[in-house]
Amino acid sequence: MARQEATSNTPHGQKWKGGRIFPPLYLATVLAFFPASALSPARAQYQNYTADYNTELAASRLISKGYSQLNAGHYEAAISTLSQALRYGPTRYQADILAAIGSAHRGLKQYAQAITALRESLKVNPREKSAYYTFAIVYYEQKRYDDALAALERYKMLAKDHKEEKKADDFIKDIQCYRHLMPAQEALFAGRKLEAKELLLKAAQQDPSPVSGAVHRMLAHAYRGMGNSEQAIVEGQMALQFEPRNKSINYVIGLCYKDLGKIDEAIAYVKRFAQAESDPNERQKAREFIQDLEDDRVKLSDTSNGLPDYFHLLLSQGQLHPWSQSRMPLKIFVSDGTGMKGYRSNFPSFITKSLDTWVKASGNKLSYQIVDNAAQADIQVEWTEDYLFKEEEGRKRAAAGITANQPEHNGNTPWNIGHSQIRIQTFDCLSGDDCTDDDMYSTCLHEIGHSLGLCGHSANYSDIMYFGATNRQLPAATKRDKATMGKLYEHYQSRL
Ligand SMILES: [Zn+2]
Repeated sequence: MARQEATSNTPHGQKWKGGRIFPPLYLATVLAFFPASALSPARAQYQNYTADYNTELAASRLISKGYSQLNAGHYEAAISTLSQALRYGPTRYQADILAAIGSAHRGLKQYAQAITALRESLKVNPREKSAYYTFAIVYYEQKRYDDALAALERYKMLAKDHKEEKKADDFIKDIQCYRHLMPAQEALFAGRKLEAKELLLKAAQQDPSPVSGAVHRMLAHAYRGMGNSEQAIVEGQMALQFEPRNKSINYVIGLCYKDLGKIDEAIAYVKRFAQAESDPNERQKAREFIQDLEDDRVKLSDTSNGLPDYFHLLLSQGQLHPWSQSRMPLKIFVSDGTGMKGYRSNFPSFITKSLDTWVKASGNKLSYQIVDNAAQADIQVEWTEDYLFKEEEGRKRAAAGITANQPEHNGNTPWNIGHSQIRIQTFDCLSGDDCTDDDMYSTCLHEIGHSLGLCGHSANYSDIMYFGATNRQLPAATKRDKATMGKLYEHYQSRL
């Protein structure tokens, strides 16, 4: 009788796990290379800065060296060499040198110095393209996206050919994607799926971009998290077009098909994932997940699923055990979880909300009172930081909660419940993150359902008493759940 997460044996689980979702940003354009042609006299726009021939020659040698150091990423050396070149006094290369010094400071993440050098460069030559480009990188790295875009527009206006224009356009595109992608990722991690979705849709407007795969992958997670597994599949397929070798997308699509009860498709995608996975442990986990899906397929084809309740399904399995009428009101004890990992003070309210739901579903045949002495309780609810497991068909599955019911009198069949013990983990059993309120309430509803007599599981994905957490469940009991509880206590007297 465990509240099982059907995907507990998966490497990615149902939760957004980030991390490997995100590729390093492709920004080939970030490195501003200083070509040798920068030294050609044609580049020198401001002839009034030229010095005598020998000075120019000496300076130009230092500049060549400085540029090589810059391009090799030896920023400190470049700054030293280029500063030496400046000491010859104004040359025709003055603006180029200052721009290059700015770029070297940028490489060292010394943004204030970089900005000073770049401004000086533009003072000498307001048409110094490379200064605008480096400005764009500096602003970009400081997340000043609007300023970065403005600098690139200036660069574009000065671009000498199509290649330079394209370089600017590519960078502009990267910024337009990234400025939405970064906060989208943060929102997704924090569980703000709607906000993440809006940001990702903006980033997707730049398709195709170097981050399109990540954008659609994250959109798939966001939609699935919002319960829209159909759209999540669409986004997953799109992500696969951009990243055909990203195996985790197949996994997510598999989960989405599982949500929709399309088990054959789910198995096909998880198999694709397993085939591409090189880690034998992960492959084994995927194989176990496929076994779970095959179990699901059997459950979902159960003829009871079309009925208005699953009373007879549970009855046929010997999984209905009511409380005796004389035990009402049931005494409920809820332990204190204060200080436990992930525990929040509103958790006990999910227990009473669950009790109220089932009491109402029973037609008020059930009733309860909260007691503060565990020894007197009929139903004990215990919060725990322990990982909970349940063996089923030889496979160990992680569980968010478990319920153990004891018979009222030994030997009687069919037996009534005499005592019930519920244990609920205070944090997400898959990811180790904090539970959402919805997840915690769903777990409480499910386990309280067990403790009140529905000791088995529904075979329908949408029911709260389905054996695993699914995307189809609302944090609420379905009509079928309520009708089943209603039937169990049909012949009892109402307490009202
Ligand atoms: Zn269960």
